[in-house]
Amino acid sequence: PDAVARHLSRIAPREVLVQESLRHDRPGCFEALPEHAVVNTFPEWAFDRALGLERVTGHFGTTTLAAFEVSDDDPVLAPLAVLFAYLSDNARHAPVHVDSIRRADAEDFVILDDATGRNLELHRNIRDNGTAYTLFSIMNRSCTAMGARTIRRWISWPLRDAEAIRTRQNRVTRLYRDQTALYEVRSLLKRCFDLERLIGRLGVEKAHPKDLVAIASTVEVGAAVLSSQRDVLHDPDAQSRLDEIRRLIESALVEEPPTLLTDGGIIRDGYDERLDALRELSTESSTVLEAYLREQRESTGISSLKVRHNRVLGYVFEVPATQAEKLPASFVRRQSLANVERFSTERLAELETAIVNAAEESVERERELFIAVRQRCVEAIPYLSLLAHYLADIDALQSLSWLATEFGYVQPEIVEEPVIEIEAGRHPVVEANLPAGEFVANDLSLGLDQSPRFALVTGPNMAGKSTVLRQTALIVLMAHMGSFVPASEARIGLTDRIFCRVGASDNIARGESTFLVEMVETANILRNATATSVVIMDEVGRGTGTRDGLAIARATIEYLLANVEARCLFATHYHELTALDAEGMVNLSMAVDHAPDIVFLKRLVPGASDRSYGVDVARLAGVPPAVVERAQHLLEEIERAAGLPPARGESDHREPGLPQGELFSPPDIVTAEIRAISPDSLSPREALDLLYRWKELL
Ligand code: ADP
Repeated sequence: PDAVARHLSRIAPREVLVQESLRHDRPGCFEALPEHAVVNTFPEWAFDRALGLERVTGHFGTTTLAAFEVSDDDPVLAPLAVLFAYLSDNARHAPVHVDSIRRADAEDFVILDDATGRNLELHRNIRDNGTAYTLFSIMNRSCTAMGARTIRRWISWPLRDAEAIRTRQNRVTRLYRDQTALYEVRSLLKRCFDLERLIGRLGVEKAHPKDLVAIASTVEVGAAVLSSQRDVLHDPDAQSRLDEIRRLIESALVEEPPTLLTDGGIIRDGYDERLDALRELSTESSTVLEAYLREQRESTGISSLKVRHNRVLGYVFEVPATQAEKLPASFVRRQSLANVERFSTERLAELETAIVNAAEESVERERELFIAVRQRCVEAIPYLSLLAHYLADIDALQSLSWLATEFGYVQPEIVEEPVIEIEAGRHPVVEANLPAGEFVANDLSLGLDQSPRFALVTGPNMAGKSTVLRQTALIVLMAHMGSFVPASEARIGLTDRIFCRVGASDNIARGESTFLVEMVETANILRNATATSVVIMDEVGRGTGTRDGLAIARATIEYLLANVEARCLFATHYHELTALDAEGMVNLSMAVDHAPDIVFLKRLVPGASDRSYGVDVARLAGVPPAVVERAQHLLEEIERAAGLPPARGESDHREPGLPQGELFSPPDIVTAEIRAISPDSLSPREALDLLYRWKELL
């Protein structure tokens, strides 16, 4: 059930199709389906592999699905049977634009759960849930909507496989090194339309003439984009089929056609004989009409006689009211206005019919011709999709090259060992939003040659802890995307999952029972993190009272050290924890300059932080001096009462907490865990596991 929940939470589906039997046979899985999704259940027999093979091959017009890495008796065919039946029953048109199937195999990607995505502000920021100040907003340097979507996907689904990562890196590097080519490909891409969206419109028969022209020009520019990358579509037929489609559109449609099919003006002269004849007829009728007018002017002697077209009356003769008497009886009065009178004649009506018919027929003919061209485009959808896919990839790759150029990133080295070695690392988003040169870069080394993988980061509030924690997670994530990273050098070990949790009080804006959320998320890490994971925990345990917060933080650290061994940065304001000094753990802190005033240097240094600087932060924040002095005084009193020695002339603020230096006793851990869980949110299985664990501990 956990795996199901995790997988679905990343995909965030609107609808889920499942077997009816799941409800009874695997209730845990059924409950793990996302709350907001519409769940449709289908009988067991509908999940039939043979049926799946038949439907899917039928859809793609192929005999096997080898191209999609689906074998003839692949288990995935069973759900595909249901999916394809469902699509064609429920979509208003057959889903012809579904051009490929791809397995979203959890094994292929670094797993990022919802909370991690939120806390790292990948696509939405925490402050107002907007898109500003997000990793995506910095990383998206694409020129097309296709490229932007790809970058979005790459951020959510970083790669697990070193080869796959290196392939992307190599392509990014190539463009990074050849800036002329980078400029060129960007200017070409800017001329491409959103081919994926155009294909979607073709698929449901909504593409209008302008869309087709956009397709043709994107096919043309797209070929230039590909050849600039020395890239060729992997299907040898594709390029010639695409050229054929482009030539067809270019020969059939005018350069700037309308979006409507009702007014003509779509098809070029010379494309279709019948249309040309109809158009000639209508021009001819106009010539005949002009001749008829000249003739009538002469015979009536009224040189101001005109032919007018009016929507209600059609074609009419118009004369000044004073001249109307002169007209012969064959002129039938249709309308009298203040100064003019309007007449029709039999001949004029005849000519009108001829003109109108020719116009109507030619509009109808244009429609027919357009639809035929569109049908040819529909048939070419697999090739268009292939091109769209290449363009999206190239755009995303150049986006990464451009990003690296713009912000001075480097290519990280991807290695097997679980290390994080970063020299002069920066937070991509914070850096970009500070004036140039103001961001303080930080070094970090975890896990090298058996050195600790776990760093406890202490330091006062506002000293830059959260920033350095998140930047580390982001650098690891970006490295797995195949991107360059904000650092002067980086070696990153392959990672299976990245977790990022933030203490409850940093999260208060979300208005949930924050401490509970914090604990649920912590539980999730403790259960799922592995030795190849990267874990970022920022002030976990803060959402509750000092003592149990400290207890939980400590128990969590101990568990991570002993049972998980992930690469981990754990930031806390509980200085007591620095005394833990456990094996496999290193103390880091944020440097503070004391002289003459307190300045937070935003620099990560070895060793524990000496105190919390709360009063100093109050002073920096402009709290009135009287209050600051009073606070300082109170603090000293409290500390004297607790028998703590003052530090450096001021005082060292330590929470009167649990004994330092020793690990917690098992009862402490069990108590802390019992406090932390919420029985209602546990599955029976999880409750049982906990019982076993406690029994073992005691
Ligand atoms: P903490 O987690 O220790 O409370 P934050 O990471 O939230 O501190 O940082 C506090 C402020 O300092 C933020 O406004 C942030 O933009 C800024 N800051 C953090 N790290 C750096 C840095 N390395 N260089 C420059 N400014 C930084």
